[in-house]
Amino acid sequence: MPKKTLIAIISATLVVVSTLILLLTLKNCSRPEEQQVLINQYEGYEERVIKDGESLFAILLSYNIPNKNVILLTNAMAEHIDMSGFKPGQVLHLIVDSEAKMITDFYYTENEIVRHRLTLEGEKYNYQLLKEPYERKYTYIKATVTAGGTFLIALEKAGINKSVRQKIANVLESQISTGGVQPGAWIEVLLDDKIYKGKQLPYSEPIYVAFHGVSLKDSEAFWYDDGDATSAFNGMYNIKGEALASNAVRYPLNNIRVTSPFGKRLHPISGTWKMHNGIDYAGKTGTPVFSVTSGKVISAGVEGGYGKVVRIQHPGGMETQYAHLSKIYVKRGQAVTKGKTIGAVGSTGYSTGPHLHFGVKKNGRWVNPKTNLKMIGAYKLTGDKLKVFQQQQNTIKLQVEEAKKETELNQEKR
Ligand SMILES: [Zn+2]
Repeated sequence: MPKKTLIAIISATLVVVSTLILLLTLKNCSRPEEQQVLINQYEGYEERVIKDGESLFAILLSYNIPNKNVILLTNAMAEHIDMSGFKPGQVLHLIVDSEAKMITDFYYTENEIVRHRLTLEGEKYNYQLLKEPYERKYTYIKATVTAGGTFLIALEKAGINKSVRQKIANVLESQISTGGVQPGAWIEVLLDDKIYKGKQLPYSEPIYVAFHGVSLKDSEAFWYDDGDATSAFNGMYNIKGEALASNAVRYPLNNIRVTSPFGKRLHPISGTWKMHNGIDYAGKTGTPVFSVTSGKVISAGVEGGYGKVVRIQHPGGMETQYAHLSKIYVKRGQAVTKGKTIGAVGSTGYSTGPHLHFGVKKNGRWVNPKTNLKMIGAYKLTGDKLKVFQQQQNTIKLQVEEAKKETELNQEKR
């Protein structure tokens, strides 16, 4: 047998084996109903629903808790929870010790399946993550554009909810000019659905999107999973591993967990209300910090409360700021490319611990980076990440085939 053929057989076998392992692991995610933890048992707890425009600080202060005790709790939360996830409608449960003016027990229900608990022990809070077991299901969907219709209409008719429709539309828009889409064009989507107590949760993720044009070229996109929920690299890429987010910039870090979002907040050191003109991301000292896109360094040095800080001017009237750095690797006047390492995470200046403060100015005004920028981990996957992505593509293709067969079987039964 020629060497080349042998290598081809071995690598094909490896792909099949690794795919099977992945499929088996995914299947194991579902657990029997009786193991589910009972939710909503909050006897003796105050219940508080987050209202529109309310900050967590304001809610906690309303229980007559002094600033410093509120900050003790929110700082403990910031160590474990993505603090940008608080939304109107979410529920808090708390026990207040009105004599000690402390919250002694606190639950934050992020969604149907994720809860966070903080309990006061002595002078510090202990953290617990509570996850309800859920089932995972892959759903295959085919949607065809009809005369006078668009992709979004076709997806709506296929029963896909608004936020998922938007995710799919973002993938499509970065691959094709949707204006040129003709009736008869069709798309295939594989959704990673989460099922809890027999009900589908609204957190479906499209992991495969294929486009079949009438006169436009066909294209495929796959979800890449870096194996860590905080990885900035998780996302949709085309078959070559190129990111599918048009007009996106790079995240300033490789791992993303928000410890303090943009907006008004109670300052963790001074205890006074201040505007927070950026996002704080968790990070260990020395973690590389990247320029989110190309530009020119307009300052690099120590600046009061910001500590060691780099400011970069980008085309289109945008400026970015990276503060509390431990090290700076660039000089004023230097041109930087997108993704260039400009410094390292630190805790210089007015700071409670190592983190990156990332600020964005548009036409001279601070704006919320989260809502003003589309951020991704990489423009293209390379090296080991690309190899893993190629394996994941094969797995997803098998999942598409399986889910497609199941859909066809169900249609025959009807
Ligand atoms: Zn900050």
